[in-house]
Amino acid sequence: MMPSFISHDYCIPIAIWHEIRIILVEKYINTTDMQKGKIGVTTENIFPVIKQFLYSDHEIFLREIVSNAVDATQKIKTLAARGDFKGELGDLTVRVSVDKDNSIIKISDRGVGMTAEEIDKYINQIAFSGANDFLEKYKKDANAIIGHFGLGFYSAFMVSKQVDIITRSYKDGAQAMKWSCDGSPEFELVETEKDDRGTDIILHIDDDSKEFLEKSRIQSLLTKYCRFLPVPIAFGKKTEWKDGKEVDTAEDNIINDTTPIWTRKPSELKDEDYLKFYRALYPMADDPLFWIHLNVDYPFTLTGVLYFPKIRTNLDLQRNKIQLYCNQVFVTDNVENIVPDFLTLLHGVIDSPDIPLNVSRSYLQADSNVKKISTYITKKVSDRLQNIFKEDRKNFEGKWDDLKLFINYGMLSQPDFYDRAKDFALLKDVDGKYYTLDEYRTLIKDNQTDKDGNVVYLYANDKEKQYTYIANAKAKGYSVLLLDGQLDTAMVNLYEQKIEKTRFSRVDSDSIDRLIMSKDNENAAKSTAEEQNVADMFSSQIPKLPNVVFHVDIRAAGENAAPVVITQSEYMRRMKELSHIESGMQFYGQMPDEYAMILNSDHRLIKEIKDEAIKAVGDALAPVDADLKGLEARMAAIRQSQEKKKADEITDEDRKQRKDCEDEISKRREERKKILADFAAGNKPLHQLIDLALLENHLLSGEALAKFVTRSIDMIK
Ligand code: ADP
Ligand code: MG
Repeated sequence: MMPSFISHDYCIPIAIWHEIRIILVEKYINTTDMQKGKIGVTTENIFPVIKQFLYSDHEIFLREIVSNAVDATQKIKTLAARGDFKGELGDLTVRVSVDKDNSIIKISDRGVGMTAEEIDKYINQIAFSGANDFLEKYKKDANAIIGHFGLGFYSAFMVSKQVDIITRSYKDGAQAMKWSCDGSPEFELVETEKDDRGTDIILHIDDDSKEFLEKSRIQSLLTKYCRFLPVPIAFGKKTEWKDGKEVDTAEDNIINDTTPIWTRKPSELKDEDYLKFYRALYPMADDPLFWIHLNVDYPFTLTGVLYFPKIRTNLDLQRNKIQLYCNQVFVTDNVENIVPDFLTLLHGVIDSPDIPLNVSRSYLQADSNVKKISTYITKKVSDRLQNIFKEDRKNFEGKWDDLKLFINYGMLSQPDFYDRAKDFALLKDVDGKYYTLDEYRTLIKDNQTDKDGNVVYLYANDKEKQYTYIANAKAKGYSVLLLDGQLDTAMVNLYEQKIEKTRFSRVDSDSIDRLIMSKDNENAAKSTAEEQNVADMFSSQIPKLPNVVFHVDIRAAGENAAPVVITQSEYMRRMKELSHIESGMQFYGQMPDEYAMILNSDHRLIKEIKDEAIKAVGDALAPVDADLKGLEARMAAIRQSQEKKKADEITDEDRKQRKDCEDEISKRREERKKILADFAAGNKPLHQLIDLALLENHLLSGEALAKFVTRSIDMIK
C-alpha cells in the first residue's frame, strides 16, 4: 500500500493527494445532474482531509493553478500556429492578483478556456478513467500508478473554502460558464457572462490560510515556482515612489523570465549570460569555475545548465543547490537520487519532463529514465572536465584546488567516474606544481621505489607543521606531495588500491633513511647494549601526555642527521583518520596516538650522553647486569628442560622454579631501569633533546613546556 506518511519527502503528501482524488472521483460516477453535481467524497467536507495531509506542501496550489493557465495559453498559441484558431491572440499575459479585503486570489489567463462539456470532462471527471486504470494496476504496483496522476487543479482546495472557475472557450459562439464548489460534495455549474476568451480561477482563501493573502508571500512563491515559466506572468503593477508614497505605475510587474538560458541555444549565449544567470540564481555565491550546457532529446528530454561552484564554506553547500524544473516549472531543489551524489555539489538547473516527479524517492532510483539521465550527466561532467584539462591545462590547474573536493568525491563514490577522472585528476606537490597521476609516477619512479618494488609517494598535509620533515625529504632528493584536502586520507587509500605497487607515506611516518626502504638500510647494524641503555633513559623521561604513547628506538642515521626524530606510523594514523569519516571504524578512533621516538646513535649529543652514562652508572649497572646474565641463562635452561616434558608431567615445583626466575629477572630489570632513570632525570641535554623533538611536533605544552623554557634559560650562559 502507500508508504509511511511521517517522512518530509516531497512525494508523500502527493501520494496522499492522489488517494483523495480517487475517492472524489469514484463518487462522481453516480452523478447525473449537470447543473448541480456531486464530486463526492466519503466525508461531508473534503477540507479537513486535504489540509491535514497536505500541510507541508500547501503552497504548491499556486504553482498548479498558474501552470494550468500557462498550459491553456500555450495551447491557444499552438492552435493559432496551426491555423486552427483564427482570431487575435492579443495580450497573453497571465495575471495574478490578491484582494486581501475580500480574501480572494485570482489567476486569469487568455488561453483556450473551457466549454461546459470540457469542465465536466476535465474538472468534474478529471481522473475518471484514471481511477479505473488505477484500480486495475493498483494490485500490481502502487508506486508505478502514483506517477500517472498529475498534481492539479484540486490542490486549490488546500487553501480555499470555495473555488470558482469563470471561463469562456476560444471556440466560436462558446457560452461562458461558471463552476463553483465550496468544498462540500456539491458543485454548481451555471451559465455566466464573460467578455474575453480564457479562464479566471477565483480562490476564496480559507481563514487558516490567510498567509497567502500577503502580497509578499505570493510574490515569493511566484519567484520560487514560476520564475522561468514560458508565458509572461504579471503580479500587479510595478510601483514607484511619489510624494512619499508607493504607487502603482501603468507597467505590469512581470515576475518571470520566459526564455531562461537553458532554453536557448548555446551558440547564442556568451559567458556573461551564463554568469548573469548564475548570479540571479545564487546571489550570495562566488562566480562559478565552469559550466556545462545540457541538451538532449533522445532517448529522454533534458535541458539545463550545471555550474561548478567555488565553494567557500560548508554552508554554501547546504544553501545552494541544483534546481529541478519540469517544462520550466520549478519542482524542487532536492535532486537526491536523480543525479549521482557527488554531482549534488554542483549548482544550476535541470529541466526534464521525463523525470517522474510524484513518485517516492526510492522508486525514482529504480526508474530507467532517471538512471539514464544520471549516467548522461556524469558523462557530460567528466567530458567537460577532460576537455578543459586538455585544451587549457593552465586554467584547469588554476582551478584545481576548488575542483578537487568535487572530483575526489566523485572518484571515491563512483567507480565509473574514477575511470574517467584518473586521467585529469591532479596531484600537487609542496611547491605548488601539479602533475597527473601518470606524470607523477614517472617523476618519482626511479628515486622512490623501495626494496619490494613499491613506488613510495611521500606527502605532507601541513607544510608548516611538517616543515623539517619536508625539508629532510627534499634534501634527500625526494618529491613531497601536499595532501591537505578533506578527502585526501580516503583518496590515498583509494590510489593504493587502484594503482598497483603504490604506497603512500607521510613524511613523518619514519626516519628519513627508512621512509623508502632500500636493501642497504634493511641490514643496518643492530644497536649495542650501551645504546639500548640510552633508549631506556630517554624512555623514562618523556613527559606523560593524555592518550599518547611513545616507543623509543635507537639507530645509526649518520652524524649529520637529527639526534632525535619523532615519527608516527602511517598505518595507525591513517586508520584513526579514516575512523572519523567512515562508520564501523570507531575501534581505531579510540586507540591512543602512537609515536616512535628515534634516537640517532651517530649523533654527537647522543654519543656524549651514552659516554657520560657509562661513566656515571657503569659501576652500579655492572653487578645487576652480571646477575641478569646468570638469571637469563638459568631461565633458558629451565625453559629447555620444561619444553621436553608433556603438560601433565610439569610439576608444581617446576612451575614455581620458573616463576621465581621470571620474577627475579623483572626485579633486576626494574633495578637497572631505575639506575638509568635516576641518571637521566638529572641530565639536562637529554631533557633538552626530548623537549625539542616534542616541540617540533607540537606535542609540548603545559607544565612540560614551562619546564623546558626555564631549563633553556638556565642553560644560556
Ligand atoms: P493537468 O494540468 O495535469 O491536466 P489539472 O488538475 O491541473 O491536471 O487540470 C485538469 C484539466 O483542467 C486540465 O488538463 C485542463 O484541461 C483543464 N484546465 C485547468 N485549468 C485550466 C485553464 N486555466 N484553462 C483551460 N483549461 C484548464
Ligand atoms: Mg495542471
